[in-house]
Amino acid sequence: MSAHQVVVLGAGAAGAAAARELITARAVDVTLVGASGREPYNRTLVNKGVALGLITPEQAALTPPNEPFVADTARRVDVAARRVHLDSGATLGFDSLIVATGSTPRRVHAELRGARDAVRAGRLTTLHSLRDALGVRDLLARTPRPARVIILGAGLVAAETASVLHQAGHDIALLARTTTPGRTALGDLVARRVADLHRTHICTYFARQPVAVTPGEAHVGLVLDDGTRVEADLVIEAIGTTPVAPQPWPNGVDVGARLHIAGAPRAYGAGGVAIHRGGLLGSWRIDHWGDAAAQGGHAARTLLYDLGLGADPGPYLPRANFAARVYGRTLTGVGHNGSGARERCVSTDPLLVVHEVEGRAVGAVGIDAVRLVQEWAPRLHA
Ligand SMILES: Cc1cc2nc3c(=O)[nH]c(=O)nc-3n(C[C@H](O)[C@H](O)[C@H](O)COP(=O)(O)OP(=O)(O)OC[C@H]3O[C@@H](n4cnc5c(N)ncnc54)[C@H](O)[C@@H]3O)c2cc1C
Repeated sequence: MSAHQVVVLGAGAAGAAAARELITARAVDVTLVGASGREPYNRTLVNKGVALGLITPEQAALTPPNEPFVADTARRVDVAARRVHLDSGATLGFDSLIVATGSTPRRVHAELRGARDAVRAGRLTTLHSLRDALGVRDLLARTPRPARVIILGAGLVAAETASVLHQAGHDIALLARTTTPGRTALGDLVARRVADLHRTHICTYFARQPVAVTPGEAHVGLVLDDGTRVEADLVIEAIGTTPVAPQPWPNGVDVGARLHIAGAPRAYGAGGVAIHRGGLLGSWRIDHWGDAAAQGGHAARTLLYDLGLGADPGPYLPRANFAARVYGRTLTGVGHNGSGARERCVSTDPLLVVHEVEGRAVGAVGIDAVRLVQEWAPRLHA
């Protein structure tokens, strides 16, 4: 009898972790599928390493954990026929499927008047892929220092990118729609502290939005909603991500407590592509490396359990950690710190805030409180 065939779509944090878990179990055959013509890479190194010219794209590469590895973008999944249709026209049959295709950056500002020309000139860009990073690296290299860079966005990637470019000696402005950027990902108390750090180190435009882009030969300008005009060499759009997956799930996969994809038997979702529904946390999605890897491993263990080949891992509950350096301070979190939770300040110096839903701790986040935050991980969801 031939072995059970598992196809894993996406070879980033979640897909590689899922494949690794399945290979270790030695009970099924695994085929890992990545995007056409691209080596998988560690996305977390895009802004901190490659865009700054500190490492080469090759140094950001991820070695796929197994053979066969197929670099051929999945275009469509025929759930009923259990077949994946690939970019090249080839197809792959499967008995079980794990979808771990990640996310794509939101592009609100690329729709503004004047934005297309700025995008074409490489002066308005996202910073999500290696390609984006090489564009930023090359533009910074040919711009007299300090380059003037505007970052549009409020989350962790925007904050971290502002910080690394500032520390590299560039002249940075951060523009965010809200008065307390990052509130939905970090909660109010930590987001306020991070906003103060931004104000101390760089130029900030909070509670502002651009209404038009004015592209030029050697610069780009933004017109803000209060009429202010800001000029720069480069504008980086870092306003979050949306899930991305092949048809029939172009907007991501809805997963249940054990990471089964709704309406698709023997299919599982993990990482930035997965929208979690139901349970104490309601509807949520986490897009950071540690949690994506944890979801990938969990999806693989659920799959093995469904086949009678492993123990029941139970529902997926986020406990993984993230960390970012912001102007020399360490911002760390574990679990779910999204909106909908109540904040409880445990310590003000160092700052440590626990997030609770119905009296249960579901996340913890802090500044320069790495050990204190880590100690909360095993206590979450108890
Ligand atoms: C600039 C930047 C910096 C970041 N820094 C940090 C950080 O410091 N710490 C942190 O925790 N998180 C960080 N993140 C977030 C983190 O990188 C993501 O949350 C994480 O990579 C998500 O893992 P994933 O497996 O869901 O998706 P990814 O790692 O993006 O992997 C998805 C993979 O699927 C492939 N793929 C997509 N579609 C298809 C398809 N149809 N067929 C086949 N393959 C496909 C993609 O090419 C990709 O290789 C950062 C993100 C960015 C953009």
